[in-house]
Amino acid sequence: MASVTFDNVSKVYDNGFRAVDNLDLQIRDGEFMVLVGPSGCGKTTALRMLAGLEEISEGDLVIDNTVVNEVAPQKRDIAMVFQNYALYPHLTVYDNMAYGLKIQKLSKSDIKQRVGEIAKVIGLEDLLDRKPKQLSGGQRQRVAMGRAIVRRPKVFLMDEPLSNLDAKLRVQMRSEVARIQHELKATTVYVTHDQVEAMTMGDRVALMRRGVLQQVDTPMRLYNAPSNLFVASFIGSPAMNLFEAQLNRRNGHLVATVGDQLLRLEPEALANPNDLDRFAGKNVALGIRPEHLEDAAVQTGAPSERRLHATVKTVEALGAELIAHLEIAGKPVLTDEVKEIAADLDSTMAAELEAEAFNSRLPLVGRFDVASRARADQSVEVVVDTSRIHFFDLESGAAIG
Ligand code: ATP
Repeated sequence: MASVTFDNVSKVYDNGFRAVDNLDLQIRDGEFMVLVGPSGCGKTTALRMLAGLEEISEGDLVIDNTVVNEVAPQKRDIAMVFQNYALYPHLTVYDNMAYGLKIQKLSKSDIKQRVGEIAKVIGLEDLLDRKPKQLSGGQRQRVAMGRAIVRRPKVFLMDEPLSNLDAKLRVQMRSEVARIQHELKATTVYVTHDQVEAMTMGDRVALMRRGVLQQVDTPMRLYNAPSNLFVASFIGSPAMNLFEAQLNRRNGHLVATVGDQLLRLEPEALANPNDLDRFAGKNVALGIRPEHLEDAAVQTGAPSERRLHATVKTVEALGAELIAHLEIAGKPVLTDEVKEIAADLDSTMAAELEAEAFNSRLPLVGRFDVASRARADQSVEVVVDTSRIHFFDLESGAAIG
């Protein structure tokens, strides 16, 4: 296995379009790295440069200390699994898996041993005599993976390998692929536009936007410490609530003014005390994840400085929790990034955000306990977990604190 480094790699297409812009990314030996981002962000282009299918315009691509910019695809010792499995229809599962090894001129007994070993790991032992058309979608995807794995390449590349499977199978294969990868400890670069796939499968996740890497981190860090507004809005569903707030110091406490309401923050809300001096009296973007809001009727006893008055618009009962769509007085954060993501998630949402901004009302989504009695058109008080609030610079979008 091997490490992979994108050292300031860019791709400029013939028409001058910069699809990947100065990508700096180190993938460790044995790591499962997911490249994720909205359509057109450059993730496939990055993967294709690594595969040798696309020329590198600037920078160096390094596999195990060797610059491979000029190395032909077949000499890079990598295997790629695509969304359309590309199996040979006339060959059995065994022969599909053995094909590459025959070309490598391995002995019959070595081939038999390797195919048998991998068939066991990926659960294809009983299907080796079947032809692809006698297999389900998930089984075919497994054969495609098996065929890549038996070659023992240095690096696996996967481009949306689960996108042709139905929703239920996709969920099942998600954990299967992650399990196989961990068992083999195979360096893997996996491309997807699906944030749930990224978060559940990756050891680390690299989130891209418009050719630029936004953050590379473990899934939990990406969720809990997003480095900018784009990451904060892209990761998490329902998305993080974002609104404009003014930060101030009052009677020795840090407070945020949201519309005409005041929230008292924890002293450690801004980890760096200099940030308070920088941002005191200024407007910032304040972010609260839906699960950090609760109906005050359920979470009783929270001080009034941690509560916000809101109006309930709708409530969706999901069995284990309620998704409450609320509205408060205030101003939504309407940077291009936030609008772009809102439009990506739901085409009506961006327009709604604009309209709400005009009305000075803003949407607030809470994940409430089922004990909540919140109903449409009622007024409620919501308790904010003020220890979990995020702040961002409104101009640069960068996280504060
Ligand atoms: P998707 O999820 O839709 O596949 P992606 O993040 O994988 O998106 P890429 O396929 O890497 O995106 O494309 C990145 C950008 O480069 C897109 O805007 C695309 O239109 C552009 N692009 C891709 N190939 C070419 C090309 N040959 N010439 C010019 N522009 C290209």
